[in-house]
Amino acid sequence: MVASWKADETRIWDPTCELCEEARFTEWFYEDDLCWVAECDACTVPMVVWRNHGAEPADEIRGHLRSRLTEVMERCFDGRWKFDDRLRTIPGHYHAHARALAWGPEALRRRAN
Ligand SMILES: [Zn+2]
Ligand SMILES: [Zn+2]
Repeated sequence: MVASWKADETRIWDPTCELCEEARFTEWFYEDDLCWVAECDACTVPMVVWRNHGAEPADEIRGHLRSRLTEVMERCFDGRWKFDDRLRTIPGHYHAHARALAWGPEALRRRAN
């Protein structure tokens, strides 16, 4: 069975884009047809990535991605964080990081399962 997001012919895929490539060399926390959540190898914080090569998803997609990242953070992490969807190193592909807001005892940390 092919995953429905792979069968979606309206989906844009850029073979030169590292977010489209979906290389799994860090921990993956979640995935569905619209997005995946994994640790960013550059920032070592969780990020959610849209499963479509484009910088500006519709508001409902943006909301979905934000909710999924929030769920992962509540399930797996302690500490304060903020949703950061400014595109920097990969400006053409929408993604968002969970940025730590504090250091020391309040720092973002992985919860023991
Ligand atoms: Zn990053
Ligand atoms: Zn891409």
